[in-house]
Amino acid sequence: MKDNTKHVIVIGGGFAGINFVKQLEKDKRFLITLVDRNNYHFFPPLIYQVSTAFIESSNISYPFRRLFQEKPHVRFHMGELKRIDPMAKQVETTTGTLVYDYLVLAMGTATNYFGFENIARYAMPMKTLDDAMNLRNHILLRMECAVRTTDLAERNKAMNVVIAGGGPTGVELAGILAEMGREILAKEYPELSDLKSHLYIVNSAPVLLPPMSTKAQQEAYKVLEKLGARIILNTKVVDYVSNNVVLSNGETIPADTLVWTSGVTAVRVEGIAPEVVISGGRIKVDAFNRMAETDTVFALGDQCLSMHDANYPEGHPQVAQVAIQQGTLLGKNLSRLIDGKPMKPFVYHNKGTMAIISKYRAVVDLPTGFLSGWIAWVSWLFVHIIPLIGFRNKFVLATNWAWSFITNDPTLRLILRPDKKERTP
Ligand SMILES: Cc1cc2nc3c(=O)[nH]c(=O)nc-3n(C[C@H](O)[C@H](O)[C@H](O)COP(=O)(O)OP(=O)(O)OC[C@H]3O[C@@H](n4cnc5c(N)ncnc54)[C@H](O)[C@@H]3O)c2cc1C
Repeated sequence: MKDNTKHVIVIGGGFAGINFVKQLEKDKRFLITLVDRNNYHFFPPLIYQVSTAFIESSNISYPFRRLFQEKPHVRFHMGELKRIDPMAKQVETTTGTLVYDYLVLAMGTATNYFGFENIARYAMPMKTLDDAMNLRNHILLRMECAVRTTDLAERNKAMNVVIAGGGPTGVELAGILAEMGREILAKEYPELSDLKSHLYIVNSAPVLLPPMSTKAQQEAYKVLEKLGARIILNTKVVDYVSNNVVLSNGETIPADTLVWTSGVTAVRVEGIAPEVVISGGRIKVDAFNRMAETDTVFALGDQCLSMHDANYPEGHPQVAQVAIQQGTLLGKNLSRLIDGKPMKPFVYHNKGTMAIISKYRAVVDLPTGFLSGWIAWVSWLFVHIIPLIGFRNKFVLATNWAWSFITNDPTLRLILRPDKKERTP
């Protein structure tokens, strides 16, 4: 490496971090170190399919070291960020301290339980691949309990699933759980019947899919209701006591499974001035994604909030396309900065919002109009497969999809319970 090589540290290899690295690694004046707590990049929009055993986790994840095999200017450091020190230009991780010229924070969001302690302790989140694997094992284990018990109340409790949150994640999960009940469990658990009536979706808003168009909201309601889900609107999940889900309307639903998709908050970073952390815990950035009050620290994607885009004065939505576009632009901007050229401000190009409601039905809000049904589902499929990193994943995912499509019988539903004991030499 030449002495004037600039060292860039990127914390978080999600959509924002990976697209930033992909862009900047073309400029050989930089050495890039990507830090992530996992050794793989994964694709959050499809984790709900892992959690219901429709696809395997390896279909939507890819190891960083493999991704960077042919990239001599990119290093990977596995570890979790503990704090940053912008004055000393260094970051402390659980696995060592690193020094930078430029720092990029792209750690996304974490589940927000809004201070509900029992819910934080006992509900199942849906944010990471680990969460998806836990939910998958939990549901399959509950099904085994339901089969064994002769007590009807116990059986209902084991089979009941309450989803808190009627946004895209809650709706997509509800749709696929209903499919799982109809297409798979009915075949594999002949002891049980009427699987579809055990699904509840609770939303504090008066509609499902609040960020989408009215047409999308109505379609989601219609399809989920037809699939047998009980939809409870204008209501919050407020507690979870002895496997009873307590609602703000006073109702209680006995359920061994409460899935919490109700809220997120940006990952907090120690070492940042409190006034820079604003709404939703997001880091305040300027039009170039530069953290307020610094020259060398940038923040991207879900973790940041920029109010400098004329079309989005309140800030951008926390979606994959914003993270991807910001990551790519910052990669270009750092090269411009080194060249002494002015950086370009970020302007979000909205390519549309979509949610899949059931196996063959989706809703898509495009800047030009609305799509639903089968056509929307096919476009959803392409949009979600094409961005998957690595050729192998695209191929495997497409093949698996085709297989489940034809046979209605996707992956093998193994209950894997990893031993959590630490083994140190
Ligand atoms: C279940 C689900 C479904 C979604 N569906 C859609 C969808 O259909 N369409 C859409 O546009 N958006 C969807 N989103 C939102 C979309 O995934 C996010 O907007 C996008 O991932 C944001 O990208 P990011 O790079 O900012 O953060 P992320 O993709 O979340 O990446 C953050 C990275 O930081 C790492 N990290 C976190 N904390 C630390 C730490 N302390 N130290 C080191 N590394 C850390 C993580 O391991 C991860 O690799 C969905 C999100 C979820 C959870």
